[in-house]
Amino acid sequence: MSEDLASAAVPAHTTVARGSRNDNTRRHNLSSLLTAVHYGGPLTRAQLTRDTGLNRSTIGGLVTELAQLGLVIEDSAAETGAVGRPSLIVRPDRRVVALALHPDVDAIELGAVAIDGTVLARRRASVDAPPTPQDAAAFAWEAAREIGQEIPGLRVVGAGAAVPGLVAADGATVVDAPHLGWRGVDFREVLAEALTLPVVVGNDANMGLRAEWSFGAARGVDTVVFLNGSASGIGGAALVGGRMLRGGRGYGGEFGHMMIRSDGERCSCGRSGCLETVLNAERLDAVAHDDAALDALASTLADAIANLECAFDPDLVLLGGYLGSLYAVRRPLVDARVEELAFRPDVEDVAIARTALGGNRLLIGAAERAFAALLQDPAGVALVAL
Ligand SMILES: [Zn+2]
Repeated sequence: MSEDLASAAVPAHTTVARGSRNDNTRRHNLSSLLTAVHYGGPLTRAQLTRDTGLNRSTIGGLVTELAQLGLVIEDSAAETGAVGRPSLIVRPDRRVVALALHPDVDAIELGAVAIDGTVLARRRASVDAPPTPQDAAAFAWEAAREIGQEIPGLRVVGAGAAVPGLVAADGATVVDAPHLGWRGVDFREVLAEALTLPVVVGNDANMGLRAEWSFGAARGVDTVVFLNGSASGIGGAALVGGRMLRGGRGYGGEFGHMMIRSDGERCSCGRSGCLETVLNAERLDAVAHDDAALDALASTLADAIANLECAFDPDLVLLGGYLGSLYAVRRPLVDARVEELAFRPDVEDVAIARTALGGNRLLIGAAERAFAALLQDPAGVALVAL
């Protein structure tokens, strides 16, 4: 949309307009190509031609430009057949990284994530009390400095922070992260000042789902509901028709606070009977050896899934953290109860699955947000040495 607006703003009959249109096309094509190798790389030029719909000579020029920008590497792979030249392979340059920060109640973690989604290095610090925004930013600076010394030659596009709480649609303000005690904090500003990098802040579950959609268990699935159990309760996120559910102000997807027991316990959010008051890590630990109690928790999980299926009609329900663990030990019970409660007729078409990226998920998801500007305009974003 911004490209359309940009070209529409220039009178069509001027020389500037022709140059501008060509430049827009070139930038769009660079974006298509880098996006293709980001999600699908390494790729041959023939695969790139197929994936982007651009012709071979155009691809050649674009690959050269991306290589000059230091974003991709082209080298020859093994021969694809008995006859013919070795095919040239285009891969993202893994020295291009984003920093990813995850402050949580019991630890702060920072990772350097390469443009192909690989976590190259990470630093984690356990904390006795939930970190302040300033603590988290100071840790990020120190950890980034250490990683820069450990792996020379990294170039950084920016940083993403995955925060367990409500984050405004501006990608900056933590409106309320009750477990951390952060309220109304412009964390983008705090972190950007510490790192002197562009920063984007997001909700941890949204970033986790984004990671699973890009590189994990939800690849290629358009409508996904995600529930993640962690030390901070239950995070939720939904991808609807390929777009992340945000809601009007960015607070959509708080599935951990769906009311599941009208006479239930008081929740950290101030209400009573929320899903995470019934189904949480402490309770799961406490009943780990009690079959009947585990069945009851699994049944609650199924109730929640059935409610979400009514609301979203998802192709996939993705379970992470302790919810994934619970599903693994009570799968037949959960599947049967979800089917029993199903509202729609073809319930067997709904897949329930565990996440695939494990402890890398939030770092990869936060990095994905930081890479977005580069993927959108590969020639227009400056990288800085770490
Ligand atoms: Zn609640």
